[in-house]
Amino acid sequence: MEAVLMEYNRVRPEDLKTLATIVGPSDVSSEEYDLVTNALDAFPGEPVLPEAVVWPESSLEVLEILRYASERRIPVTVRGGGTGLAGACTPRLGGIVMNMMKMSKILEVRQLDMQVDVEAGVIYDQLNRELEPLGLFFPPDPASGKSCTIGGMIANNASGLKAVRYGATRDYVLALRVVFPVGLDLHLGSRVFKYSIGYDLARMLVGSEGTLGVITEATLKLRTLPRNRKTIAAYFNSIEDGVKCIGRIRLSGIEPAAIEFIDRTHLRLISEWSGLNLPDYECMIILEFHSYSRAGLEEEVADAVSLLREGGAADLIIPKNEEEAERIWEARRGAYPSILKACRSPIIGDIIVPLSRLLDGVNKAYELARKYEVRVGVMGHLGDGNIHANWLTDRRNRDEWERALKANAELTRYAIEVGGALSAEHGVGVEKKEFMREQHHEALEIMRRLKELFDPNNILNPGTML
Ligand SMILES: Cc1cc2nc3c(=O)[nH]c(=O)nc-3n(C[C@H](O)[C@H](O)[C@H](O)COP(=O)(O)OP(=O)(O)OC[C@H]3O[C@@H](n4cnc5c(N)ncnc54)[C@H](O)[C@@H]3O)c2cc1C
Repeated sequence: MEAVLMEYNRVRPEDLKTLATIVGPSDVSSEEYDLVTNALDAFPGEPVLPEAVVWPESSLEVLEILRYASERRIPVTVRGGGTGLAGACTPRLGGIVMNMMKMSKILEVRQLDMQVDVEAGVIYDQLNRELEPLGLFFPPDPASGKSCTIGGMIANNASGLKAVRYGATRDYVLALRVVFPVGLDLHLGSRVFKYSIGYDLARMLVGSEGTLGVITEATLKLRTLPRNRKTIAAYFNSIEDGVKCIGRIRLSGIEPAAIEFIDRTHLRLISEWSGLNLPDYECMIILEFHSYSRAGLEEEVADAVSLLREGGAADLIIPKNEEEAERIWEARRGAYPSILKACRSPIIGDIIVPLSRLLDGVNKAYELARKYEVRVGVMGHLGDGNIHANWLTDRRNRDEWERALKANAELTRYAIEVGGALSAEHGVGVEKKEFMREQHHEALEIMRRLKELFDPNNILNPGTML
């Protein structure tokens, strides 16, 4: 660690003055409050304070900051909403945090094109609120939508509850404006739904976690809001029945928009936190259906109900109206806060496995919990193979914390071994960078070379991902 630190310069008072000439004196700070609140995201990692925070308001300001920091070899960590769960926006080597929250304009909605241009700091829910009256939406729907930014979602390829039908952020990125530390401010991609125009540099930035360039603007593809929706909650007395049902539904040709899984541990935590008093079963599956036609929707729901019953569902709840359906989703959204109530520093797992390994993957999490003697709750977007095994732990109990880290690491290795991935949506950050070689083998070198091309002085988010 020390050898790496030696390569960088610390922020000096002269640097603060130069940064103030770029962004204006009120948008640069070295005050303790700002340093502390920009040091961590939602991953319970070791805090390292930055030495300065800047809030740029334009691509030109971003360009000037990066040029200056690159010349001076000062690390720059890009930060959106700071909701990441892998420590990806934490300034591991100090330096400057570039906070993107002031670049928060929705630039243009082109209804006929079904596209929107936004600045990177726009908040996900804010965007969809603006789009709703036009009958359009941006679907990825991460559970952190109230606070996460479009830039952070692109840099993490975020997805969420509806990915099984609508895909992830990557599927909606058409064009980006990106500023690179080599002094380039580039427009990448094109404002059309498909293109065949050479290397896809815009999508190269998807999942880059702030290590290649700073996304300042994005053109996103939009979808029309579903006209008809229906939710079903199914409870099972066995994990095996519940998980197998998910596979059957996927193979049946029925296309739910969401297929969520919540185990008994989480059901109990949610009940305690919310007072919703959910029934006490081994697991719950929530399905949501979207359809243009009401008749088509009813047919799909009826077929799904038959499959769930045949698959052993012990109890089925089919809400009669939107309010009742909303209560089911309220329970799902309560999962994270209920975990935080139950334990001090949870490790939120995020592996993805092929659908054929779903049951195996869920059972593996329970097996590791027994092996390492840690509490785990399993939930996730199981419809696309994404398992969140959440380790309920407390950093202050070092021994338990270490055991939870080991369990999570072993589950991550398992996912890679069975042809899955170390992360489905939360990213690599500091949490999972040690697995990058196992995931990518020699391709990791290509990633390093790309990084060198755009960021030769390695100032962007050093110490994370690669
Ligand atoms: C309660 C909770 C629920 C969550 N649920 C989900 C979920 O359902 N699905 C999901 O995918 N994730 C989820 N997350 C994780 C997280 O919210 C998402 O990954 C989100 O996309 C991060 O966005 P952010 O703006 O907060 O990014 P940050 O946490 O600020 O940053 C994340 C990464 O993006 C980089 N970055 C940010 N802005 C830019 C930019 N403009 N240019 C280049 N790089 C940039 C950062 O450097 C960092 O590497 C959840 C988190 C919490 C706390």
